Amino acid sequence: MTVSPRDATDVLLIGGGVASVRCARALRKEGFDGRIVLVGEEPIPPYNRPPLSKELLREDLPDDLVLAEPERWYERRDVELRTGRRVVELDLDRRTAVLDDSTAIRFDRCLLATGAEPRKLSVPGGEHALLLRTLADARRLRVAATRAGAGARVVVVGGGFIGLEAASSLASLGLRPTVVELGERLWSSSLGSKLSEWAMGVLGDAGVTVRLGAAVTRVEPGAAWIGEERLAAAFVVAGIGVRPRDRLAADAGLDVSDGVLTDAAHRTSHPAVWAAGDVARRAGRRIEHWHAAREGGERAARSMLGLEPGADPSPWVFSEVAGHAIDVIGAVDSWTDERWLRDGVLAYADGERLIGLAILDGAMPVEMARAMVTVGNARDPALAAT
Ligand code: NAP
Repeated sequence: MTVSPRDATDVLLIGGGVASVRCARALRKEGFDGRIVLVGEEPIPPYNRPPLSKELLREDLPDDLVLAEPERWYERRDVELRTGRRVVELDLDRRTAVLDDSTAIRFDRCLLATGAEPRKLSVPGGEHALLLRTLADARRLRVAATRAGAGARVVVVGGGFIGLEAASSLASLGLRPTVVELGERLWSSSLGSKLSEWAMGVLGDAGVTVRLGAAVTRVEPGAAWIGEERLAAAFVVAGIGVRPRDRLAADAGLDVSDGVLTDAAHRTSHPAVWAAGDVARRAGRRIEHWHAAREGGERAARSMLGLEPGADPSPWVFSEVAGHAIDVIGAVDSWTDERWLRDGVLAYADGERLIGLAILDGAMPVEMARAMVTVGNARDPALAAT
């Protein structure tokens, strides 16, 4: 393949999500004045996904509201956008990416931020279940909800982040969702029994039925089945987890294992390639949340410039259940003890070590919680303060 010099860029950002745009932003902030090209598969500039299962489902809002940066930002910051385009091949020896329109672009450094894709419901009729990942998915779901109308029963498969946010939004529109979750607790048990019990209570109050330890075995127009039991459903939504989109990286010969493997500075096994966002398994951990994508893109940018990647605060996830805000701070997956410290503050600890905090409706400032989890003292007097 021949690549003309004008098809060469200093930095190529592959993936049209938050990790890429934050990387571009941080590069410019650090004074980088080289060429930056961002290739994204969706037809619109990078946008924030968190509102898709919340505000965008509940209200008629314009696309502009979710854009990560206004369109003119790219012009102002001299970041070239190639939307509606997919990178189909990476040749790392030549440092060249081939796009789906057969054009090629050579790069000096590249960020892989290809994200993740939703798992499909693999039961008979499962192809009829709506998924919620993209802006187009969110629009489809809102149309289905509006058509079904208040009072309609719907089934939400999966009691994780997407399932609970979507069910909450649908209930606020007057629909009657039933969440069918495979596990014995909500959020795959990772957030423990106490938060799950709290969520069951507020969801019940909001008109959402939750079925734990149950599997949808069949979907057909107007219904979902749990074995022999028929649940009426104007439509079915599935939020049963995602898979990292790491195929491009694997085919290019990068080290991949359920995500693109990187060190703490987001460097992959090739010196010209960094990875961030849902696709990256950074220092052994893959985090599929907005803050991780944002902070990861920024750290990768500094690392590309040979700078210290910067602060590495505790992970932070935010969600909404039945109109209540939840902030989860810390890598909440290896705790041994969960306890309510006071109204709205749940601590996860491993002995004396504080692993994480779940905060309801802003009962504690997030930055304070992040600092506490970083220190990791489960006996921190500030935790007991009212
Ligand atoms: P998720 O949070 O991993 O939850 C999926 C849930 O579905 C799990 O509880 C899982 O239970 C359950 N499940 C899996 N197969 C099932 C089946 N056949 N029937 C019933 N339940 C089943 O994934 P998600 O909710 O689909 O969200 C997708 C991604 O977007 C995730 O990466 C999530 O973190 C992210 N997201 C984040 C936010 C936020 O940060 N606020 C909001 C929305 C989405 P088991 O694990 O027990 O099988």
